[in-house]
Amino acid sequence: MLPMLSQLLKQMVKKPFTNIFPAKYAPKNVKKFLQSVQEGRIKVHPPVELPEWFRGKIIYEKEKCIGCRACIKVCPAKAIEFKEEEKKIRIYLGRCIFCSQCNDVCPVQCLHMSQEFLIADDNKLSDNLIVE
Ligand code: SF4
Ligand code: SF4
Repeated sequence: MLPMLSQLLKQMVKKPFTNIFPAKYAPKNVKKFLQSVQEGRIKVHPPVELPEWFRGKIIYEKEKCIGCRACIKVCPAKAIEFKEEEKKIRIYLGRCIFCSQCNDVCPVQCLHMSQEFLIADDNKLSDNLIVE
């Protein structure tokens, strides 16, 4: 209890460790925020460097896909559907848990985990969250 209390007191006087979200991604209606950044009153830090193995938004090289469905079979989140008419796939990132199993199993390496992580959206079916 005592160590926790001392930690709590220390945190109260320290600056936050969290990064301010990059201004370029801030909503357009926060004019004052952007103005403060321009005037140097708020310091905006660049995003932290990502490791090479980071599992971000999936990249699908559609033309390489042979329609074998192996990715669909291993996907634990049932985030991939087969487009029968095209014999290609569609990935719903709103369901994806970024486990990379589809990448690992694909026999022609047409799936890749990118470093893109700014994919939050209020519509799980938005274009940004569907890869095909
Ligand atoms: S990364 Fe995992 S959850 Fe996402 S589509 Fe691939 S297998 Fe499914
Ligand atoms: S595992 Fe690869 S080749 Fe097979 S359907 Fe999925 S993306 Fe296409």
